[in-house]
Amino acid sequence: MPAYEELFQSAVRRLEKAGVPEAEWDAWYILSDTFHISRAEYLWRKKESPKQVPPLWEERVRERCRRVPLAYLLGQTEFMGLPFAVRPGVLIPRQDTETLVEWVLEETDGEGKNLLDLCCGSGCIGLSLAKLGGFEAVLCDLSDTAVEVSRENAARLGCRARIYQGDLFAALPAGLRFDVIVSNPPYIQSAVIEGLMPEVRDYEPRMALDGAEDGLLFYRRIAAQAGAWLVPGGRLYLEIGYDQGESVPFLLREAGFLQVEVRRDLAGQTRVVRGVVSDV
Ligand code: GLN
Repeated sequence: MPAYEELFQSAVRRLEKAGVPEAEWDAWYILSDTFHISRAEYLWRKKESPKQVPPLWEERVRERCRRVPLAYLLGQTEFMGLPFAVRPGVLIPRQDTETLVEWVLEETDGEGKNLLDLCCGSGCIGLSLAKLGGFEAVLCDLSDTAVEVSRENAARLGCRARIYQGDLFAALPAGLRFDVIVSNPPYIQSAVIEGLMPEVRDYEPRMALDGAEDGLLFYRRIAAQAGAWLVPGGRLYLEIGYDQGESVPFLLREAGFLQVEVRRDLAGQTRVVRGVVSDV
């Protein structure tokens, strides 16, 4: 039986050979999750062998070599310090998206406030705002898997959230009004998708990425409709791509939003646009 250290090293070599960008990191997460071993325990016991090597080990290393995203293999990822279940069919939460959540938390105390997360995917934005900000959250997505995974995540996190299935606002009960609307809609230009890294291009849902020819389809639709669903003075926060820091603010201003501003993520890329509806 190979020692933990040998298992780890051989996984690193195979992942490197397959061109996986963070081979050591990924090998460690697969090892730790598969053998339920902490970092401290590994350092202490790396010359020892596990009692058995479960088939899951080989399966996960092999699939990661085929560039299946790590989060799908582990079935879980972290966002805003909270655990979120993920599986193929929902976009994997990105750290960049925390920029949006942090901005909302800075500007609004969610107690007694209604929030809508459009195109919710795993539910990471709406549910972390419910959990950390105290918002009453409504989530919506067109995809069956997104709705299922969001419901699962709401239950796991103990969040009260109403989750609807439909195209943008279409499934929402008439008469609802929100203090805050957030969305990370599909925003990649269709033609750009083929050039993305294999993890994203081959395994993440195209439906969560493709923003049509110019990438702006969903921003146009949201800008046109969001005002009617917001209370006076209500706020809209949208994640955007690194090259949409001018086009999306323009669309929001054209639609009548005030205080339109852009925020950058930790990598310095434009990442979020916020607009406010008039309070009169
Ligand atoms: N940020 C994602 C990516 O880089 C895109 C997410 C989206 O289209 N909303 O793949």
